Amino acid sequence: MSTYASIAIMVGIVLLFAIGIPLAYRSEKKAFNNGKCPHCGSDLKWEDSDSQGGRLWMCPGHYTIKDKYGKPLCPGYSCWISYGRVDKKFRK
Ligand SMILES: [Zn+2]
Repeated sequence: MSTYASIAIMVGIVLLFAIGIPLAYRSEKKAFNNGKCPHCGSDLKWEDSDSQGGRLWMCPGHYTIKDKYGKPLCPGYSCWISYGRVDKKFRK
């Protein structure tokens, strides 16, 4: 492999991280929606964690909030968050 090729690959990897991490962070921040369910506005509940430290947040309104016909108002919502900054102040 020539020197230029390995430099090009390294630059590519750096660019991938420089662009990929902020994008993933932003999409998680959007999914987390400041701890509110995008469907019904309920506060999301921390349900579970995986071994890599990701957190599963779920909407409790799926079971508790019903419309006048007795149908759940919220179709249910959940998201996995892996970036600590996204849900830091919501974890207790
Ligand atoms: Zn909801």
